Amino acid sequence: RFSTAAAAEEPIAPPVQVNYTKLLINGNFVDSASGKTFPTRDPRTGEVIAHVAEGDAEDINRAVAAARKAFDEGPWPRMTAYVNTQLDILVSVVSWPSTMLTDGRNLPLQERSRILLRFADLIEKHNDELAALETWDNGKPYEQAAHIEVPMMARLMRYYAGWTDKIHGLVVPADGPHHVQILHEPIGVAGQIIPWNFPLLMFAWKVGPALACGNTIVLKTAEQTPLSALYTAKLLHEAGLPEGVVNVVSGFGPTAGAALASHMDVDKLAFTGSTDTGKIVLELSARSNLKPVTLELGGKSPFIIMDDADVDHAVELAHFALFFNQGQCCCAGSRTFVHERVYDEFVEKAKARALKRVVGDPFRKGVEQGPQIDDEQFNKILRYIRSGVDSGAILVTGGDRLGDKGFYVQPTIFSDVQDGMKIAKEEIFGPVQSILKFKDLNEVIKRANASQYGLAAGVFTNNLDTANTLTRALKVGTVWVNCFDIFDAAIPFGGYKMSGIGREKGIDSLKNYLQVKAVVTPLKNPAW
Ligand code: NAD
Repeated sequence: RFSTAAAAEEPIAPPVQVNYTKLLINGNFVDSASGKTFPTRDPRTGEVIAHVAEGDAEDINRAVAAARKAFDEGPWPRMTAYVNTQLDILVSVVSWPSTMLTDGRNLPLQERSRILLRFADLIEKHNDELAALETWDNGKPYEQAAHIEVPMMARLMRYYAGWTDKIHGLVVPADGPHHVQILHEPIGVAGQIIPWNFPLLMFAWKVGPALACGNTIVLKTAEQTPLSALYTAKLLHEAGLPEGVVNVVSGFGPTAGAALASHMDVDKLAFTGSTDTGKIVLELSARSNLKPVTLELGGKSPFIIMDDADVDHAVELAHFALFFNQGQCCCAGSRTFVHERVYDEFVEKAKARALKRVVGDPFRKGVEQGPQIDDEQFNKILRYIRSGVDSGAILVTGGDRLGDKGFYVQPTIFSDVQDGMKIAKEEIFGPVQSILKFKDLNEVIKRANASQYGLAAGVFTNNLDTANTLTRALKVGTVWVNCFDIFDAAIPFGGYKMSGIGREKGIDSLKNYLQVKAVVTPLKNPAW
């Protein structure tokens, strides 16, 4: 069946230990107020890796208080740009004492950048341990974590380090004799809630822009994957981050997550996860202090293959678009639309490719697919597969669990999928490819857009006009043309419709973490 045997027998990751299991509050690892812990499990076996301190409302209060103090009294938000000469240091010490750390060290603006750059260096230095911890807790292939995700984290930190001294306001001409300044200020204490599918990258996407703009943070990790963020936050402090600027609370959604979203002293909330939970946190924010919310939610992204496409290449990319990260991507190309002229050939070749997929222990070389995150997601995916069969789609390959231990699912393909079927409408978040047939461009545009989601799309064609038409017609936040899942720190990411609010990464991500203040001063002598 699936090519599990192709994977080399030897594990390729270094041995890794779990050193950090407590909550990180005000620069220290502490127990939860209740003393409670919860287990985090290895998706390969379901066995417990470690017991982690379980944060609750009381711990969120403690973390928010630390972040508030760091914001109101600490140096982080008020590092001001000036030339770092002896004289300037003297002036700054005299006039801005709050830019000093308790040990007397002064923090000019460029120190914010230096800390993020040192953090990036430390991420690279600890690349293999971070990747191994991520694979252990999440189940993703070690090679993916080590060669893609951890390096991307370092890149993100360097990108945001570069922004720290380029965030500034404007002086604008306005009617009347007035001097008008527009100031951009950090917004305050940011609450951030992240999911389990890319724990390290989601950490980086969230803290990068918030820190670059001078905010302080309380971040809640997903209960399935608490480990790598604790390790990473430790590195951030090793890089010189002042205490209280980043606080990490492990815990569950309805308790710790809800406490963060409804906290009266949190000034901004950023969330990534399911659309249902996104609605809950938006409501909690509205009902408490009306904090602005950015949401990065689910998707059902179309991957459109036109009849002029190179079928072999299209098969490979569509396979990657869906199966990458065990299919656990919000932007997965989970509706594979194939033009009728190349449809049969595509389905045959897609099946052959899925059968070659190397599924197995994610710590072994050459493995493309590890286990799903947990039994809940595993069972949910198997239920979707049954629903596909029951609704009349053709099961081309796969359709069951793999092995009898852990949460492995066979790479699965359905053909003849119809738009109304559950597997074509809902987010499966697993290795299940749904192939749909179409006849012409207008039809596929209409069908691709007929979704509550609008996160991303893939377009596969050699015709420039077709590509231009599709990129403009699709109501999604990202269109990948003849490629998929190309991410970079500079490329904004986010959704239309129920896929979210706001953008992460790139210049647009900074807006989420800045307040805009207009300052108007009369000009006594407008002639000058
Ligand atoms: P989820 O949305 O429930 O969890 C995401 C984060 O939100 C976690 O940190 C969780 O603890 C927190 N959370 C949950 N309930 C909360 C609440 N009431 N208040 C505040 N925070 C809360 O996602 P899940 O249950 O882990 O997965 C369910 C589905 O979500 C998946 O099958 C998938 O379809 C989707 N998902 C999407 C993404 C994405 O990146 N868009 C990521 C993970 C899961």
